[in-house]
Amino acid sequence: MRFATKAIHIGSEPDPATGAVSVPIYQTSTYAQEGLGKHKGYEYARTQNPTRFALERCLAALEGGTAAFAFASGMAAINALVEAFLHAGDHVIVSENVYGGTFRLFERIWRKYGVDFSYVDTRDVARVEQALRPETRMIFLETPTNPLMILADIRAISELARPRGIRVVVDNTFMSPYFQRPLELGADVVVHSTTKYLNGHSDSVGGALVVRDAEDAERIKFVQNAAGAIISPLDAWLVLRGIKTLPLRMRQHDENGRAVARFLAEHPRVERVYYPGLPSHPQYELARRQMSGFGGMVAFDVGSLEKARTVLESVRLCALAESLGGVETLISHPATMTHASVPPEERQRLGITEGLIRISVGCEDVEDIIADLDQALARI
Ligand SMILES: *Cc1c(COP(=O)(O)O)cnc(C)c1O
Repeated sequence: MRFATKAIHIGSEPDPATGAVSVPIYQTSTYAQEGLGKHKGYEYARTQNPTRFALERCLAALEGGTAAFAFASGMAAINALVEAFLHAGDHVIVSENVYGGTFRLFERIWRKYGVDFSYVDTRDVARVEQALRPETRMIFLETPTNPLMILADIRAISELARPRGIRVVVDNTFMSPYFQRPLELGADVVVHSTTKYLNGHSDSVGGALVVRDAEDAERIKFVQNAAGAIISPLDAWLVLRGIKTLPLRMRQHDENGRAVARFLAEHPRVERVYYPGLPSHPQYELARRQMSGFGGMVAFDVGSLEKARTVLESVRLCALAESLGGVETLISHPATMTHASVPPEERQRLGITEGLIRISVGCEDVEDIIADLDQALARI
């Protein structure tokens, strides 16, 4: 079975009780048992829910994993990862410029339990190798990163980690399994914020972990039930429904993303464009090798806070909002929105300037998106 067929059918087999082609939303907390210890495999809904299981089966198939686990948010999924695999004294290498919530979780919560994190420029495999310590247990990659679209070579870093028994985790939220499948490149665990492209309609918050190894699956399953940060049945259903059109949407995000990036790259008021699908992107070759499309995330620099404000306050179609991955185009200002908690000097060092604008290019007619950006840029 190929990707789009799996997206539509795995987990969504007709309901055995009624033949319903859409998986029912099993909005229940518990299940009646026939006798003591006699039940249909369902006892309590934190542990088992058929709607959640349907989503989990679909996600495992799309990423090529043995199992998937769905959580209440992307952050709950990342938190479960730490709970499942790390102990006090362990060390983790993390892509610098990782999602702000991930940085906050690691630094403000897990550091106080004795887990140590190093933030490394994972563009450079040599730097990852230099950062290794005897107690390194995990390498946490985000590729491409937000908002500068910096890539890490998943295969090369997995080859470094595997013989040392270090797990490689990839946050695949930006590409989705349609464009990038980290497990096939050697990673051990994939993280998703299903809130973004997987759901795709900006109407649900959720997260997931997908694993290669059956023992890892058991550990995550234990944590999912023990800590209990499960996705709700309604949200599981919304994500499952979103996934059915994931290939269609991703193709459109990609086509529109490329067109918007080209438009911006040629615009005289734009100083710099960050998009892995532009041949001028320093990691264009890696992007072509590791991903099968470039997606809809584009960042560009107009040079100053005042100019960025003019653009952000002049757009009419693009909504000024955090988040990404929905069918509607969203535009944001990383320095004051998603990355406001990063200290200014650190932002400067990473390249998140005050003139930087990020767009999550949606699935509208691209001429309309470009016309909106054009009229907003004209006001600078
Ligand atoms: C949004 C996001 C998260 C966190 O997910 P939530 O669903 O908001 O908890 C993690 N990683 C990346 C790359 C994200 O974009």
